[in-house]
Amino acid sequence: MVDLLPEQTQRWQEVELIAREQFKRAGFKEIRTPLLEVTELFSRGIGEATDVVGKEMYTFSDRGNRSCTLRPEGTASVVRAALEHGLLNQGPQRLWYGGPMFRYERPQAGRQRQFHQIGVECFGINSTRADAEVIAIAWDLLKQLGLNGLVLELNSLGSLEDRRRYRNDLVVWLLDRFEQLDTDSQQRVQSNPLRILDSKNPQTQSILMEAPTLNNYLSEESLERFEVLQQSLETLEIPFKLNSRLVRGLDYYCHTAFEIKSEYLGAQSTVCGGGRYDGLVEQLGGPNTSGIGWAIGMERLIMLLGDVFSGSTTPDVYLVNQGKLAEIQALVVARKLRALGLIVELDSSGSSFGKQFKRANRCGAFWAIVIGDDEAKGEVLTLKKLHSNEDSTTSNELKVSASDLDGLFALLVS
Ligand code: ATP
Ligand code: MG
Repeated sequence: MVDLLPEQTQRWQEVELIAREQFKRAGFKEIRTPLLEVTELFSRGIGEATDVVGKEMYTFSDRGNRSCTLRPEGTASVVRAALEHGLLNQGPQRLWYGGPMFRYERPQAGRQRQFHQIGVECFGINSTRADAEVIAIAWDLLKQLGLNGLVLELNSLGSLEDRRRYRNDLVVWLLDRFEQLDTDSQQRVQSNPLRILDSKNPQTQSILMEAPTLNNYLSEESLERFEVLQQSLETLEIPFKLNSRLVRGLDYYCHTAFEIKSEYLGAQSTVCGGGRYDGLVEQLGGPNTSGIGWAIGMERLIMLLGDVFSGSTTPDVYLVNQGKLAEIQALVVARKLRALGLIVELDSSGSSFGKQFKRANRCGAFWAIVIGDDEAKGEVLTLKKLHSNEDSTTSNELKVSASDLDGLFALLVS
């Protein structure tokens, strides 16, 4: 779990701002759910056979002896909240969320135990138009943030029925080659065979080259859906690559599965993962409702952004002040200028004017306001332009009345 220091939070805020704006324009509304849920939500909503539930959750008993879990992802909580508050009876819902998620994984570059996601969920639209829209939102957001070298990988998982037939054949095929599989994959043959397809083990991967592919098991209807989605993406000029190994190994995932990867991220290359999950709401006790969504990993996104955002919290004004009267006057002035919207850094060191000026110059502010006891008594402020190219210092100085802060403000922003 990592701390984010001021230099980093600056960049996070800028990314969050752009994402918020994008969601707003697309008609997505924010939902905030608790970080802690009862464990059963995730074991039912993500599935016991997954790595996330099987190995990665932070689970504990609370003082009332209930099993609680720090959320490892956002979708299950969003569905729970939408059900609990009757949102799903109010027509299609377009929701977004953001915040920390917790998974007990092996920490490495791009993989943490507390990480952050932003994500969208769209409920109640069965047509592939929602799939295309949701993918476009992710793609455009990443593009708007200035990312290049992105690849959208796309697959269809078909319907539950398609996948059942495929799963049966795949298990038979895998059992024939059981000894050659890595131990992790061996354990999954019965519990979650589809997930073996995206095993990272090289030997398993090479064996799988010959495995039956899901695409050959898609029904007419599923194939047509997949075709329509591809056409929509072409119309939207969003490039994609088909990847028949791309799976979300859960029963309620269906049809669309996609990931956006970056060629610059190394091993942890997926920035965004998503798909259609028409069976999830029902699985969690609600009415049959279609759903599609994605989640972006913020840490990986920020890593990719590199120095795209420099971010500025440079003060507009540095307030140099010394003396008993001056110090209180400086507090008053700082407060008023802040209320007018300026970024004001108040020197509270009480050190010499010289030292304070050094700091003022270093912080990059355009103006310094100087208040000594003489100024305070005379109800005036000295305004001094910092970083000025002009030689004469006096020409950069100006006395203004301390009572006319609106006039001062006008000067400062001019
Ligand atoms: P991976 O294959 O990388 O483990 P995943 O399938 O577990 O990914 P999802 O559950 O789909 O990931 O989460 C969506 C996104 O959240 C990922 O694409 C990634 O960017 C980010 N993410 C997931 N787990 C972590 C983590 N432990 N640390 C940082 N980011 C993560
Ligand atoms: Mg994972």
